[in-house]
Amino acid sequence: MRIAVLKETAPAERRVALVPDNVARLVKAGHAVRLERGAGDAAGYLDATYASAGATLGSAAETLDGAEVLAAVQRPSPELVARLPAGLLLVGLLQPAQSRPLLDALAARGVAALAMEKVPRITRAQAMDALSSQASLAGYKAVLIGAMALPRLLPMMTTAAGTLAPAKAFVIGAGVAGLQAIATARRLGAVVSAFDVRPVVKEQVQSLGASFVEVAAVAAEGQGGYAKALGQDEQARVLAAIAAHLVDMDLVVTTAQIPGQAAPRLITAGMVRTMRAGSVIVDLAAETGGNCELTRPGETVMEGGVAVVGAVNLPSTMPLHASQVYGRNVLTLLQHLATKEGALRLDPADEITGAMLVVHDGKVR
Ligand code: NAD
Repeated sequence: MRIAVLKETAPAERRVALVPDNVARLVKAGHAVRLERGAGDAAGYLDATYASAGATLGSAAETLDGAEVLAAVQRPSPELVARLPAGLLLVGLLQPAQSRPLLDALAARGVAALAMEKVPRITRAQAMDALSSQASLAGYKAVLIGAMALPRLLPMMTTAAGTLAPAKAFVIGAGVAGLQAIATARRLGAVVSAFDVRPVVKEQVQSLGASFVEVAAVAAEGQGGYAKALGQDEQARVLAAIAAHLVDMDLVVTTAQIPGQAAPRLITAGMVRTMRAGSVIVDLAAETGGNCELTRPGETVMEGGVAVVGAVNLPSTMPLHASQVYGRNVLTLLQHLATKEGALRLDPADEITGAMLVVHDGKVR
């Protein structure tokens, strides 16, 4: 396969789709990897390291020339789409549910596309699961952002001048990001509690040393291990439980998502007003509408002394490790797509490829 990697152009995007170690493995397996010069700079992977791993470096045009696969992190700009050669396969976090015009443009150019968000959550595909790899990092960083914004410490501290009480942290949504947020807040010494609508999560939360906030008769496990939207009655009970719990919290990290829908609204403006001044909410669902009514993506909103942080693209703020794990996801996918002879095989009937294929044969699927 001839694989290309370009420098990402989305604002504030610092990740790169393949790291030098991935390139070395691909080259060893007989594939050719071309990189736009400087593609890994922002993530800390320099051209010389890629060259030592066997990549060919060049301009964007040289990199695309003759490529069969373009490995990307984010969606391509319309200008880039117009330059993609027909017959190319694009792999990336393409946000297919929100990107119909992009998918149409790719189909019109005869470019096929695999969306990294659509890796099926089956054991065989775990190493390709980019949502999980990036969500773990985001959950970790959300707690650090909260810790920095708080006017107090997270751990208990005993000093000659008195004892400082530990912060109380509350994590809403205990999926991949939420569990990592719980673990991070615990490591930093906070007293942690969490809530999720999927009852199976309770044990995972407790095994991390956090307490589980119980809401009677709420069980919203949907397809594929994901949550589904709550009924009206359930939603009212969940909101009441969260409202009662929030009053005493210092740090709140929200991560609740329902696939293909806007994020559930779990903290109203009224609830924020009941919280202590100095408390912080970090909303990881900011990009899909926010779990908190006051969230604005990319901004910090102050309400009665409470900071509501609308966190966006946190993985890109840790580009070295985010690229390392994303690159591993892409590498594993590319290995899956390669035949024994090293050719690209795009089989819509394959369980993994078929689930991820959003544009094929000039059509949006
Ligand atoms: P997600 O990002 O879609 O949602 C985050 C969390 O929000 C989920 O735990 C969800 O239950 C929760 N949530 C939704 N509505 C809520 C509400 N109203 N109140 C509180 N919480 C709410 O989910 P995710 O983190 O991507 O993972 C979802 C599941 O998939 C988990 O069980 C995870 O372990 C599983 N998973 C499996 C695999 C695999 O088998 N390969 C890989 C990754 C994740």
